[in-house]
Amino acid sequence: MRKTDLHELRKDPLLGRWIAVLNPPKSPAEYVLPLQGTNEDTCILCSGRESETPSEIMAVPRVSAGGARGWWTRVIPNFVPIFHIEGELGRIGEGMYDRMNSIGANEIIIESPEHVTSPEDLGTDQMIRVILTYRERMADLEKDSRLRYTLIYKNSGRNAGAVYSHPISHLASTPVIPKRVKEELDGAKEYFAYKERCIFCDIFREELSLGKRVILETKNFLAFCPYASKFPFESWIIPKRHNCAFQDIGAGEIEDLALVLSTVLKKLRTLFKGLAFNYFIHSAPNRIPRKNHWHTLGEDFHWHLEIMPRLLTTSGFEWGSGFYVLPTSPEDASKYLREV
Ligand SMILES: [Zn+2]
Ligand SMILES: [Zn+2]
Ligand SMILES: [Zn+2]
Repeated sequence: MRKTDLHELRKDPLLGRWIAVLNPPKSPAEYVLPLQGTNEDTCILCSGRESETPSEIMAVPRVSAGGARGWWTRVIPNFVPIFHIEGELGRIGEGMYDRMNSIGANEIIIESPEHVTSPEDLGTDQMIRVILTYRERMADLEKDSRLRYTLIYKNSGRNAGAVYSHPISHLASTPVIPKRVKEELDGAKEYFAYKERCIFCDIFREELSLGKRVILETKNFLAFCPYASKFPFESWIIPKRHNCAFQDIGAGEIEDLALVLSTVLKKLRTLFKGLAFNYFIHSAPNRIPRKNHWHTLGEDFHWHLEIMPRLLTTSGFEWGSGFYVLPTSPEDASKYLREV
């Protein structure tokens, strides 16, 4: 890609959030695209068609009984990346505005060699491999001092923004801390400054002792519906061990997380057939570039995974006010999820 083709990041001077402007721009006709790779014949993410994808970043290898080599999970660059790894940040002011080049990383994590089978349906071992892949990519990208944040996220179902029907998740590494993450970091820091305790540790202790919003509890994790959820059946998975960065997860925790994540996703899919959902991991920003920037980060932030079922469309009220309406309370939602 030529340097002139880099997308542009612009900062909203009022709210401080960054947005990406794509280059070349899309025409109105290009906004309606069919779901790609809807069957195995046309899907290049399936095993056996590796030569048709961009070059592999990493893979969890699979050696079958006969000695044939394949993969369990595979990571490739995004076909239409918003962020590019080559180039300079080129931060500049444009009058009162700020912009920079969209330096970063955009990767596709192929969660399963099979087209129709999600990792949670392939058993805990496959979910473990997916989580190991997440951890390896996060740890690798943290070494790049230009990058400030890595978000791992999943879009499942067209209503949740999925473009491919093969089971995949995504990774985006950005040169700025996204606004939504910064709000959490600031909120956690403020709580810590006041109480000298991690807010997330306090939340899971509170939820455990009350029990009425708990979906399930294991040795290392708690899954629950947050007290002030934004969406009905919103579910969080939080590690019991205080730790700000997901990539510092231990081997026992990975096994446990695989089990909890698989179980919660299966429960949601049992309640809602064909459910569209997103999930994402909120972890600490890269600690390498500015070790002293977030002074209490290691103590005040606590990584977690948020699952957002897409059961409602966002109305003008939510967009205009940032005020969310919950038709099912988190207490009722967690009861349905516990019992299914
Ligand atoms: Zn496929
Ligand atoms: Zn904590
Ligand atoms: Zn979060």
